[in-house]
Amino acid sequence: MEILREKQLTVILLIERLEKLTNRKVKLELPLTIEEGEGQLSESDLDILRQFINYCLDNLKIKKIPVIELTIHREEDTTTGGYYPDENFIVTYTKNRHIIDVCRSIGHELMHADQVENDRLDVDGEDSAECPSEIEATVFAAKMMREFSKKHPEIYKEEE
Ligand SMILES: [Zn+2]
Repeated sequence: MEILREKQLTVILLIERLEKLTNRKVKLELPLTIEEGEGQLSESDLDILRQFINYCLDNLKIKKIPVIELTIHREEDTTTGGYYPDENFIVTYTKNRHIIDVCRSIGHELMHADQVENDRLDVDGEDSAECPSEIEATVFAAKMMREFSKKHPEIYKEEE
């Protein structure tokens, strides 16, 4: 897993250089790591998730797209996921979670990545629900979810 992450980060750095040299945005596959195993999202849900991530990215100003890992192993100190600014890394727990919850989590963490890149994250490691960065991330994720689900009503199919 560690080696894979390093490789992905190397690819991101190379893309950045290429973008600088050509002065163009390079669109590539998302840097998504999917841990295989029982309880992981289905292929059709993964497809929705990829579209949702791209939708969020279209609404953010992130240049360095974080590496996103979908894990089915919950570590002691993680709840449903988090963003690690030093590594520009998002981890989200997906085991037996509904696609809507996973999308919302990732939308939230992507906003944190945007806040870090644009120097306006005001939490110091702590996740206080009332600080402006947290509110902004939560509001953003809800807004993205609302807009996206209008275009993709199939996202709600399993929740009935
Ligand atoms: Zn947060």
